[in-house]
Amino acid sequence: MSCIFCDIVEKRRPSISVYEDERIFAFRDGNPQAPTHILIVPRKHIPTLNDLGDEDADLVGRMVLAAGELARKESIDEKGYRLVWNCNAWAGQSVYHIHLHLLGGRRLGWPPG
Ligand code: 5GP
Ligand code: ZN
Repeated sequence: MSCIFCDIVEKRRPSISVYEDERIFAFRDGNPQAPTHILIVPRKHIPTLNDLGDEDADLVGRMVLAAGELARKESIDEKGYRLVWNCNAWAGQSVYHIHLHLLGGRRLGWPPG
């Protein structure tokens, strides 16, 4: 099984890393949609949000906390930022290893496209 984000987490594929710990890896999106566009991913391969179980509750919480910490580091916390999880085709998920988008640095439209 090949997975781009497993390759990035395991450093077989280069990325601009901004945070890592035992369970989480964060790096800059290769096709940024805002001045700050960071992807926060678990080291564990989980294809979609539908595959999360009770045992992942702490992991998901840690991902959100890491995103908040990165927002502070990027100085986008005061003006505002958005966290996005896309699940499956209609939401536009293109990489099937869950990832949390951190977007900010400009005014973001609502509703999303
Ligand atoms: P999705 O559409 O699945 O929610 O988001 C996938 C994201 O991964 C996209 O924003 C896309 O730009 C990003 N992406 C895909 N491949 C790579 C890659 O090889 N490197 C980096 N840094 N980002 C990638
Ligand atoms: Zn993976």
